[in-house]
Amino acid sequence: MVELEHLSKNFGAEKAVNDVNLAVAQGEFVTLLGPSGCGKTTTLRCIAGLERPDGGEIRIGGDVVAAPQRGIYLNPEDRNIGMVFQSYAVWPHMTVFDNVAYGLRVRHAPASVIKQRTMKALELVGLPHLADRYATKLSGGQRQRVALARAIVYEPRVVLFDEPLSNLDAKLREQMRVELVRLQHEVGITSIYVTHDQSEALVMSDRVVVMNNGVIQQIGDPQTIYARPANAFVANFIGVANLMQGVLLGRSGEFCDVEIPLGEGYAPLRVQAAGGESAVAGQPVMLSLRPEDIAIHFARPTGIGNGNLFEGEVVDTIYLGSLLECRVFEVGIQTDHYEQIAPQQKVFLSFSPDHGLCLTG
Ligand code: ATP
Repeated sequence: MVELEHLSKNFGAEKAVNDVNLAVAQGEFVTLLGPSGCGKTTTLRCIAGLERPDGGEIRIGGDVVAAPQRGIYLNPEDRNIGMVFQSYAVWPHMTVFDNVAYGLRVRHAPASVIKQRTMKALELVGLPHLADRYATKLSGGQRQRVALARAIVYEPRVVLFDEPLSNLDAKLREQMRVELVRLQHEVGITSIYVTHDQSEALVMSDRVVVMNNGVIQQIGDPQTIYARPANAFVANFIGVANLMQGVLLGRSGEFCDVEIPLGEGYAPLRVQAAGGESAVAGQPVMLSLRPEDIAIHFARPTGIGNGNLFEGEVVDTIYLGSLLECRVFEVGIQTDHYEQIAPQQKVFLSFSPDHGLCLTG
């Protein structure tokens, strides 16, 4: 439904979007995720027609809407897309009904179609009872629902979302996430969603596109992005990861053997981890370990072997309510909040080789 081929957009010398390739299927929910300034909004604005790309091609439903090298550029209103922004952008001098109906009126739809489609869109976002209320007399969450109804009422080929939930309070944001996903499944709209909030991306998306410095770092479903990050940037940006510099010693079957120096006075760690397929022995690598994937033991456990078991001393602990976080060396571990763990306590840490990931980038 939406295809980006070698898309580039520069601002002066800065490559805001640098050779981005992406194909979004019909009915798919794809999130562009990355830190501030990574180029996600510029990518979205190029798809919308609010920004003219410098290179590459954009196709929507197979139609070329922008191809600077061929002099093709369609205005936003000719692209048949819906947009929902961070600022609610609903018209205060209009009722909820008129706000939503606007897109149909400018397309000269007959009155009966306007009424039927507007009410259907309002039902989908749970606001049919407020059709006659003025937009100024709505809460933030209700306004954002109006903006959503307005974006889907004329059944666009794709809806573009630019951080639409970031102005809402935390509880409402969580509720709207779930509602947006429900709506997306119900209506089957193709959605491209920009956010810097990784939990939002993981909860809502069929696929996540992680960007940094205008370049795509990884495209994958939420599980893959979280469990198998392509590089240290993705591992660190999505969730929390312990990243430890080491050297690849070699491979044992499906796993690689990695040596990690722990600093003066400590023997280096030798561990087994997944990934690292492209690495060769002697190459510097990074071990990525999620805090929740490390088990903590108070006596040397049996049956784990020496591989991924190591001994250390607790540096400090942080009580987070639902879990307890503690540090051993520089390694962060999340464990059961009922555990009694104190600084200086001697502990053993272990992790399963397929929970550790050897990264080369
Ligand atoms: P944020 O989450 O902060 O909105 P973003 O990932 O959406 O960030 P973009 O808005 O796409 O990032 O910006 C990418 C880069 O391009 C940034 O370095 C930004 O400063 C620059 N940029 C964006 N718009 C313009 C503009 N109109 N003129 C000059 N530079 C711009």
